[in-house]
Amino acid sequence: MTSDLLARHRAVLPSWMPLYYDEPIELVSGSGRRVTDAQGRTYLDFFGGVLTTMLGYDIPEVREAVERQLRTGVVHSSTLYLIRQQVELAEKIARLSGIPDARVFFTNSGTEANEAALLVATNHRRSHQILAVRNSYHGRSYAAMGVTGNRGWSASPLNPLQVAWLHSGERLRGLLARLGPDEQVDAAVEDLREVLATQTAGDVAALIAEPIQGVGGFVHPPDGLFAAWKKVLDETGILFIADEVQTGWGRTGEHFWGYQAHGITPDLLTFAKGIGNGFALAGVVGRAEVLESVPAISFSTFGGNPVSTAAGNAVLDYLLDHDLQANAARTGAILLDGLRAAVADLDCVAEVRGKGLMLAVEFVHPGSAEPDPARTARVFEACREGGLLVGKGGLYGNVLRMGPPLTLTEEEAREGLAILVEAIRTAAGVPA
Ligand code: PLP
Repeated sequence: MTSDLLARHRAVLPSWMPLYYDEPIELVSGSGRRVTDAQGRTYLDFFGGVLTTMLGYDIPEVREAVERQLRTGVVHSSTLYLIRQQVELAEKIARLSGIPDARVFFTNSGTEANEAALLVATNHRRSHQILAVRNSYHGRSYAAMGVTGNRGWSASPLNPLQVAWLHSGERLRGLLARLGPDEQVDAAVEDLREVLATQTAGDVAALIAEPIQGVGGFVHPPDGLFAAWKKVLDETGILFIADEVQTGWGRTGEHFWGYQAHGITPDLLTFAKGIGNGFALAGVVGRAEVLESVPAISFSTFGGNPVSTAAGNAVLDYLLDHDLQANAARTGAILLDGLRAAVADLDCVAEVRGKGLMLAVEFVHPGSAEPDPARTARVFEACREGGLLVGKGGLYGNVLRMGPPLTLTEEEAREGLAILVEAIRTAAGVPA
């Protein structure tokens, strides 16, 4: 019984670990883009376990690769031994990363990947000053929380890094929100120069940024902003860390990595979530010169283990063989265009935005930019009632987020769209 499980969950797990929905769901099986709960209800999953189930559920190619590895009896051999599939996956990711002379260090989570990137950058530059972006999310370790620009997610009372905060692609609020894309890039560069001059000693290690802010509500800065920033950073050798935990692997439809929309190559790139399709697999990629900067022995007991990397190879091969980036562009356009057309007359929707299969709807009190998390929650619950799982996010909890598996079909996109539109219009008091 789910209600019994919920009581036991509340009794033993920390209260700061939130559960989605008024009546939390226990998922017991999944296939393709659909999951079934303990009561037998089936949902179309437009969030994929927070953009993690990138290919969908129970993909035979991934299951078979993992089962093959399990049958060898070697579930874990520690990174002190050679692991064939780890090397193979590192070769593929190094090649795809676009980073010259790349090295790959595998971890188990995006948090650890960012922690490793910050460790590498601070060692390489002999500085613990970091530039981070307002409204960002980078994980839940000390350093990763330290560069997270959202107090709701950043509970660390002490920051091990000296962090200065930048404005970025603000959409509705904040100093840059009133500007057009070109002016916003100019203003963000001015802000960067001012922050460097006033809030740092100059010897900054790195800037860390998400090409599209994930937890922050799928907020994307104007294309090209990172290139404009990087020009300034390059004057003094400050490194650029692209956090691709949500934006990587073709999800944005237009590019394989989010950073490519900005015309840069980062010095360090962190990845996680989708590459394991549910198995714990993450890591950091960087130029050898930078990644080799860690002076002490540093390894991960489970990072890059045989099972996770067997899954990772199968996921990556599937992704490339089926050109899922193109599918994300195609099905994402159906959703974006359909949503925009269906809610254009609603003054409680401030913006429908996104790229590929990373789409958001932001809710406000009609006629203002004031966030409306209550209405967002109603839409969220109504989607569930209609059989659709989506996500929530944003600094104020007023953004509905969609990040379906990249295997989404056009029929499923239209099916989910209809549920979404009905939920939004009903919450707006204007039924479809
Ligand atoms: N970076 C970004 C952009 C994320 O969205 C997340 C998680 O949502 C992380 C880092 C942390 O990843 P993990 O939860 O795997 O530690």
